[in-house]
Amino acid sequence: MKRTQAERETEMQKENARRWIDNTVFTTGGLSAILGAVVIIGWFTQNLALLKILPSFEAMRFNTALGFSLAGAGLVATVFKRKTVFRVCGLMVGLIGALTIIEYTFGVDIGIDQLFIKDTVSATYPGRLALPTAIGFTFIGSAFILLGTPRWTKRQHIFLGIPGSIIIALGVVGLIGFFSGHTEIGTWGDFVSMAFHTAVGLMLVGTGLIASAWRHSANEGRFLFQWLPVIIGVGVLTGTMLLWRVSVALERANIEKMVLLKTATLRANTNDRIESHIQALMRMANRWAMHGPPSKMEWESDAGLYVKHYGVYRSIMWVDPTLRARWVAPFKGNESEIGRYLGDDLGGSKALEAAREKRDAWISPAVPEKGGDVFAAYIPIFIPIFNHRFDGFIVGVFDVRSLFDTILKDEDIKGYDVSVSSNGSVIYTSGGAPGGWAREARVRLYGADFTVKIWPKADYLAGARSILPSVILASGILVSFLLALVGHFGEKAQERASISEAANARLEHEIFQRRRAEEELKANYAVIERNSEELKRSNAELEQFASVVSHDLQEPLRVISGYLQLLSRRYKGKLDESAEEFIRFSVEGAARMQNIISDLLAYSRVGSRTKNLSSVDCSEIVDLTKKNLGRVIQENGAVITSGPLPTVNADASQLGHLFMNLVGNAIKYRGDETPSVHISAKALPEEWLFSVADNGIGIDPAYSEKIFEMFQRLHGKGSKYTGTGIGLAICKKVVENHGGRIWIESTPGRGSTFFFTLPAKA
Ligand code: ADP
Repeated sequence: MKRTQAERETEMQKENARRWIDNTVFTTGGLSAILGAVVIIGWFTQNLALLKILPSFEAMRFNTALGFSLAGAGLVATVFKRKTVFRVCGLMVGLIGALTIIEYTFGVDIGIDQLFIKDTVSATYPGRLALPTAIGFTFIGSAFILLGTPRWTKRQHIFLGIPGSIIIALGVVGLIGFFSGHTEIGTWGDFVSMAFHTAVGLMLVGTGLIASAWRHSANEGRFLFQWLPVIIGVGVLTGTMLLWRVSVALERANIEKMVLLKTATLRANTNDRIESHIQALMRMANRWAMHGPPSKMEWESDAGLYVKHYGVYRSIMWVDPTLRARWVAPFKGNESEIGRYLGDDLGGSKALEAAREKRDAWISPAVPEKGGDVFAAYIPIFIPIFNHRFDGFIVGVFDVRSLFDTILKDEDIKGYDVSVSSNGSVIYTSGGAPGGWAREARVRLYGADFTVKIWPKADYLAGARSILPSVILASGILVSFLLALVGHFGEKAQERASISEAANARLEHEIFQRRRAEEELKANYAVIERNSEELKRSNAELEQFASVVSHDLQEPLRVISGYLQLLSRRYKGKLDESAEEFIRFSVEGAARMQNIISDLLAYSRVGSRTKNLSSVDCSEIVDLTKKNLGRVIQENGAVITSGPLPTVNADASQLGHLFMNLVGNAIKYRGDETPSVHISAKALPEEWLFSVADNGIGIDPAYSEKIFEMFQRLHGKGSKYTGTGIGLAICKKVVENHGGRIWIESTPGRGSTFFFTLPAKA
């Protein structure tokens, strides 16, 4: 009774736990579905408050909302055991997540982002889930499929605990990002950041998943064991994910700072270099203005030195006020420049304008020339003593490649690639492949407008990055996996302990029962022993009584039959017929009674045990039997044969009775043929098997047991077979007294064989 009470209690506990789980799953699933539905409505009505919550937040994408509706519906379906529903929902959510991850990983757009609705709200990646959301959805999908696979039901809590915890942790990290004002924590790479309510949705679905995983192992007693690792696991995962995100963000900030610094350096260098080259030309123009026009030879050698020294000018020219090149240095290689009009291609007209208005230098846009891009710097010459006579320009033709090569030779710029554009077209690149983290700076001087773009080389970037964030993330995942294992094995151990406890109780119960049965058996034995003692005593008494009675009865019977015979002899012919018949019946009855009494006496004499055991040769017994039955054998013409017979340890007189009865019966129950009786013996492992076979009338096998009982005969008084029905009972008693068995095998009409066994030498 106690056991069933306890069982009922645990059953109730389980039921409570199950209800609790169902409520949790239903609530989280329902809320998630509602969240998704509301945002879907928001998309159709273009309600920004529903999509973003706050204007500065990222919008929850349509696909995300769809995913939450499906995941929510799937969770609710698990409560109602609609396997197909939650499998299909899970598959679709997983597909949305996985396809988005593929898009991010391979930088492709496979057209799922805006499959259902056009996203005009989001600035970047319109319609595409944030990467952490996509990862979360992939986990949700696989978890649902696991949940629907019967093979996994037993280990669900471990296989779902981890994805569930990861999903919750993703949501928690996103929320922390929002509350701390650092949404970059939830923004992975350069991708979209998570929406506020997406973070909430992930937490809901994750909780629902973990709860539904436990439906199969629902047991209030083990609840703590199940929740504890998950709570710690979520904590650890959230912590490491946060640490990971923060260290990634820090690293990014560092790299960004580095690139910005390089950009500033490059900008300053570019500006300074070009400025100093212009300054050189200005000094030349100044000397012209102060000292008057130099001789052509003097100017050419001066300008030639500049060209050679700086290595950035293709040539330096003097251009007259009509913008025609008059002198050029170095002359060699530039002879064709003489007389060239610089107004159209090298922007001379603009320089003229600038000179007249501001009396200042002017730089032309870069133009392609034979041998690479060039630009020209114009320095106007005004001679003050001649009332500011305009003497034309000193023009430096800069070779773009040489100029920026010298600038970029700088040590500072090592590890970065650079491109320079002017007026929208690229005029210089350092040759590296374009990469991320690029920053731009503009250099504006003397009318020129250069845009320098700089980005770190891939290998340099790799060197600047540390493996710390990855190590943090990997160790966090490892720790939470270990926690899940600990929880799993802890639970297993508890389960095993309770199983063995139950087994112990069962064993104890069994031992108790067995002991009781043993005691009962012992008591029974005692009773049986007592009974058998009593039986023995009463049997002995009965035997004694029978022997006394039969002995005592014989005497009066002998008197009765004697006088009856006298009566019949003496009054023969003197009495009437019926009186003579009465006397005959009486004589016969008395004789029958005498037979019965003598048989009974024989039976009681056999007793219940052998009295005088001795070595008896069975052949001698058979010979004696033949002698005793001599008259009967002769009368019937019977043939008695025997095989070799053993010597046994037996009571000789009892054995004599046995053979007498069997051989006597064999002749008595003869058929029409001459009776033939064969006696034989066969050695069995521990005993002798005797057989007495005849060719008599045989008996119906139905009576083969009955004939061994006292007074059981198959023939009535009137039949030709006379007898008392005691002979075989005596045989049985003799054989059993010697520790053997007796039985008959017979075919009616063909003969019978009596078998009996006697132990071989005791
Ligand atoms: P009785 O011979 O005095 O009737 P038994 O106890 O010797 O009593 O035999 C019991 C019965 O078994 C007999 O009445 C007889 O019907 C049957 N029986 C015994 N021996 C044989 C035999 N050799 N062949 C056929 N029937 C037999």
